[in-house]
Amino acid sequence: MRWGDMRPSDNVEDRRGSGGGRLPLGGGMRLGGGALIVVVILSLVFGVNPMQFLGMMEGAGPAVAPPQPAAPAQTAPAPAAKDPEGAFVRRTLGDTEDVWTALFEGMGSRYEPPRLVLFAGATPSACGHASAAAGPFYCPADRKVYLDTAFFQELSRKFGAPGDFAAAYVIAHEIGHHVQNQMGTMRKFDQAAARTDARGRNALSVRLELQADCYAGVWGFYAAKRNLLEPGDVEEGLRAASAVGDDTIQQRARGHVVPDAFTHGSADQRVRWFRAGLASGDPRSCNTFANDR
Ligand SMILES: [Zn+2]
Repeated sequence: MRWGDMRPSDNVEDRRGSGGGRLPLGGGMRLGGGALIVVVILSLVFGVNPMQFLGMMEGAGPAVAPPQPAAPAQTAPAPAAKDPEGAFVRRTLGDTEDVWTALFEGMGSRYEPPRLVLFAGATPSACGHASAAAGPFYCPADRKVYLDTAFFQELSRKFGAPGDFAAAYVIAHEIGHHVQNQMGTMRKFDQAAARTDARGRNALSVRLELQADCYAGVWGFYAAKRNLLEPGDVEEGLRAASAVGDDTIQQRARGHVVPDAFTHGSADQRVRWFRAGLASGDPRSCNTFANDR
């Protein structure tokens, strides 16, 4: 992914200096010029763990507990690029802002970008305590995405889904939840969830999560259209979507699969809806509530 060409967002709240400080990263340094080339090269070896981020605390019902403890410290980035993760997150977020601003304008509305909190270790949120073990999530109450930088190592190491586009898919999925919040889908979800039982809530949660995957694909469509993707990127994203499927995760954690306990969708479903968004670039193609695919 040519994320060095993307516009950095001003909506990143960098709390890495005040938390666990597991990673030896500098504060929100912004890179430019020649440093970008180094960053882009480094980005090729990033790993991201979408399951770790997607699964746990999204406020969309119960989730499968992660089978592993918090990640240990990983190797520090090269001195030439002191904060590649921060730069990557800023630029990916900025690009989602550009895409969704244009899409909302097309719908006669105005996109209100969320803030993204980058933290190391643990941090408070309006949805409770955020920790690395919880994985990335969107909190509707404070309209912020919470992202622990450990996720850059987790995806690759534990889920075999490395690559910068895999990481971008995770961020774009969380942004998809913000889009749902702004569009009122999340409020409708809460109302419907209150009227059903646990099994019904799980089923609704799956539709909400698959729609966020589809919205992530919609962003990917426009990234591709502007030549910001590279060969292999789409495959990276699809591999990540498959790695965070509930069946994949349950099989890994429990040795068997319990479809009624799905909260995010099977690997096949997640790949299918991510691909649907990637192919259409149209949020209207993401009505996962209208069918049970
Ligand atoms: Zn989600």
